[in-house]
Amino acid sequence: MLAKAIRIAATGGPEVMEYVDVEAPAPGPGEARIVQHAIGLNFIDVYFRTGLYPQPLPGFLGKEGAGVVEAVGEGVTHVRPGDRVAYAGGPLGAYASVRTMPAHFLVRLPDAIGFETAAAMMLQGLTVQYLLRQTYPVKAGDTILFHAAAGGVGLIACQWARALGVRLIGTVGSKEKGELALRHGAAHVINYNDEDIVARVRELTGGEGVPVVYDSVGKDTFTASLDCLRRRGLMVSFGNASGAVEPFAPAELSKRGSLFLTRPTLFDYMSNQEEQEAMTAELFEMVGSGKVKVEVRQTFALAEAGEAHRALEARRTTGSTVLIPE
Ligand code: NDP
Repeated sequence: MLAKAIRIAATGGPEVMEYVDVEAPAPGPGEARIVQHAIGLNFIDVYFRTGLYPQPLPGFLGKEGAGVVEAVGEGVTHVRPGDRVAYAGGPLGAYASVRTMPAHFLVRLPDAIGFETAAAMMLQGLTVQYLLRQTYPVKAGDTILFHAAAGGVGLIACQWARALGVRLIGTVGSKEKGELALRHGAAHVINYNDEDIVARVRELTGGEGVPVVYDSVGKDTFTASLDCLRRRGLMVSFGNASGAVEPFAPAELSKRGSLFLTRPTLFDYMSNQEEQEAMTAELFEMVGSGKVKVEVRQTFALAEAGEAHRALEARRTTGSTVLIPE
C-alpha cells in the first residue's frame, strides 16, 4: 500500500527531513498495517534526527501514533481490522500516513479517546506513569521538582501529581508557561531564565530540599538539580533537551548527601505486553476520569514535520503536539 512518510538520509537540522512516497507492505506474521490519523511529536524525535541517538541511515522518525488497523498478519489476535488503536514504541517510523509494524505494540483505544488525543498522550503519559509511579513512587504530601513543566510530559505530570496530592514545583522558560503549569496543577513555578532554582527550592522546602528531581532538560540543569535534593534524594535524569549531560564523578553524589542517580527510559519500564497493558490501563484511567486532560496545543500537517521540529527546539510549543497525515 502506498504511503507518505518522513525519511532522513543524513542526521542534521530539520532540513534533512524529506517527505517521500514509501510502500507500507502487507503485514507479515505478528505484524499489523495501520492507517494513521495522528502522530505524536516528541523530543526523542529530535535526538534521532540530530544523531544524538544513533540509528542506521537512511532512516525514519517517530515513535507514536494512532489510527485504524487495516490488516493483520498471521498470529495476531489482540487487534483486528477496523480496530481503533494507538502505540508508543516499536521501530522508528511513526511519521507516516500508513505503516506496517509489530502488532504487540498496539493497544485498543477506548471510544472516548480520539485519535489526536491518543497520539498526544501515549508516549508522554506513559512516561509520567513510570516516573511518578515506578521510578520514584510519589506519595501524597511529597514536594517534588519537575523540569520543563509546561511541555508535553510536563503538563501531564502537573495534573497527575495534583491528582496524587503531590506538591509539584515546576520549572519553566517564561511567565506564560509558568501560568500554564500552575493552571494544570503545579503548586509553584520557577522561571529558570531569571530565578535561582536551588535557592527557590530550598526556600520552598524549609531548607531541606526535595526527595526527587525529574530532570529532562539535561546539560543546563543537571548540577542545579543535584543541589536541590535532600539527603539520600533521587536524581531522575530522563532527557537532554538542552544537550547531553557531561560525564561526572560519583563523588558528586556523596558530597551532596549520599544521593541516588538513575537515567531511565520508558522502554525499559514497558518492555513486554504485560507491563504495557498495566501502564496503559492506568493512563487511560487517569484520562478517562478527567484527572488528567490531554490537550493538543499545536497541530502540523505531516508534510510540515520540519516546522514542528523547529517550533519544539525553539521552545515555542507548550503541552503536546501532533502531526496529521493528509
Ligand atoms: P517538551 O514539550 O517538554 O519540550 C521540551 C522543553 O524543554 C521545551 O519546551 C523547553 O521548555 C525545555 N527546554 C529547556 N532547555 C531547552 C533547550 N535548550 N532547547 C529546547 N528545549 C529546552 O518535550 P517532550 O514533552 O516531548 O519531552 C520532554 C523531555 O522528556 C525531553 O527531554 C524528552 O527527551 C524527555 N523524555 C524522556 C523519556 C524517557 O523515557 N527517558 C520519554 C519521554 C520524554 P521551557 O521553555 O519551559 O524551558
